[in-house]
Amino acid sequence: MTTVFIISAPSGSGKSTLVSRLLAEVEGLTFSVSYTTRKPRSNEIDGQAYRFIEREQFERRIAADEFLEYADVFGNYYGTHAGMLAAAREQGRDLVLDIDVQGAAQLKKRIPDAVSIFVLPPSREVLEHRLRQRGQDREEVIRRRLADAAREIQNYSLYDYVLVNNDLDLAADTLKGIVRAERVRRVRVEEKIQPILATFGQALC
Ligand code: ADP
Ligand code: 5GP
Repeated sequence: MTTVFIISAPSGSGKSTLVSRLLAEVEGLTFSVSYTTRKPRSNEIDGQAYRFIEREQFERRIAADEFLEYADVFGNYYGTHAGMLAAAREQGRDLVLDIDVQGAAQLKKRIPDAVSIFVLPPSREVLEHRLRQRGQDREEVIRRRLADAAREIQNYSLYDYVLVNNDLDLAADTLKGIVRAERVRRVRVEEKIQPILATFGQALC
């Protein structure tokens, strides 16, 4: 049974850093590569973090109902293709999605047992410092990201978990802990434990 892990955060909170650590250090996880109409940044390769497509192609895929969820974020479309979940199910892997709050809300409706995690920076000051230190955005973009963050963090209450990314090692360990604990929820292991119960002569309850 595939478990879907949704991770959202204001830009600069350290979400990508945490997700990379999670994928590298926990077995059996696949990252959901989204489609987007945003232009690739200089270090981005098509098919890794995103599949980059034109607006017209994206709208054709919306019309064909190919997305589990999609949203307009900062003027560009972003969407999770249904094929990502189908492939994870086929391969018996869990799926990690890095999506915004609009997408998270849509997905929770569609997949109620999806696990959602909101990452918060320790403060506005720290967020600003991380955005500057990352050295990726112009001043005007940093200002916009900070204003967006103030709006986005109000949605934390829609999530199952809220993870403050202060100490990176601790936050990464906690995220791994969430994934590992969710995987052993009784409802998720019922099927797997049947052979164990059978060795005790117990039938399915
Ligand atoms: P996001 O994906 O949320 O936009 P990034 O993962 O790119 O954020 O992180 C933003 C910047 O903050 C990067 O330079 C990253 O190395 C740094 N960073 C992430 N987590 C921490 C942390 N816990 N402490 C200090 N710096 C961090
Ligand atoms: P960026 O362009 O900085 O990579 O991402 C911008 C925002 O889009 C982030 O908040 C990210 O989580 C979100 N995002 C990325 N992929 C998807 C997706 O498939 N669906 C939705 N709803 N949001 C996405």
